[in-house]
Amino acid sequence: MPLADTRAPCNDLIDVDIILSKLNSCTNDPDFDLPSFSTCHGVKNDDVPLTHEDVISHFLNGQCVERKAPGRPEVTHGVRSPVKMALTITETIVTQCECKQILLDDLRVWCSAIGVTTTHTQRPEYAILMQKLKTRCNALRPLLNCDGLDTIFCGVETLGKQSLQHLGVQHNVNANSNCDADSAKTAIIDHVTPGGCQASTSSLCTLVNDEYHESASGSSGDLETYVLQLAAKKGKLSKKALRRVLKSRDIEFSDNENVGELRRHLRSHLTRLRKGKQSEWTRNRRDASESEYNSRLNEIPVLVLTASTRLVRLSL
Ligand SMILES: [Zn+2]
Repeated sequence: MPLADTRAPCNDLIDVDIILSKLNSCTNDPDFDLPSFSTCHGVKNDDVPLTHEDVISHFLNGQCVERKAPGRPEVTHGVRSPVKMALTITETIVTQCECKQILLDDLRVWCSAIGVTTTHTQRPEYAILMQKLKTRCNALRPLLNCDGLDTIFCGVETLGKQSLQHLGVQHNVNANSNCDADSAKTAIIDHVTPGGCQASTSSLCTLVNDEYHESASGSSGDLETYVLQLAAKKGKLSKKALRRVLKSRDIEFSDNENVGELRRHLRSHLTRLRKGKQSEWTRNRRDASESEYNSRLNEIPVLVLTASTRLVRLSL
């Protein structure tokens, strides 16, 4: 479990009232202050101006868990999983819809911001949107079991197609929505094992990075080494999960090998990886001396160089 934010008055709680009131004012108040929202919630709008839709999708996709955003502690007390936030707020909206506490116009705008829509012929619109939000909750719920590095390798194997799509979005992995479940799993693991979360700014990747920095503080390895170390732990991964991890790092194995043998391949890869990282210093020294040598070569008159190249060619 991630460490809770001790400064917050109560932990592991998402303030749905604040979020709903923000959603309401964003939808209905023409004076809603987009720039101050942007600063408060750490939403970057460098390229295109922030829209009301961005604000809605920010909340409904659980993006509020960004640690550095000053507005975060207000709504997510100690909660760091974007999946948990997305699920909690969607569930709350569904419950309120069941009591008809949300207007159709508002519901339509909120749903549309996260790509949940109906066609004009589909009626009753309110009930259909509500049903689609319930489906969304069902797809998000299993992700609570794989929103961390420690759980993703086992967790991803258990997910259905819709859950995988949500997990892909949370990791900023552009998996084709038409691709089958197995390819979606591979795409996500191919993102996670080389430490791909480090290059992404999505909330779940940020959470993974934080988890790594907190757990691996003091150790010398990088995110990739850390991730693979977790995957190589005894009794942790199934045969299927191990094979996917090995494939993602181009590690050779044969089809009839058992879990123990597969894990050994991963361990030897880790050893090679660590050695490679340790010898980085040596490699840098070698590169430096090579470039020194090359620059000395450049000082030799061009004519001589051409002649020696011809000589080499002739001798071949
Ligand atoms: Zn990621």
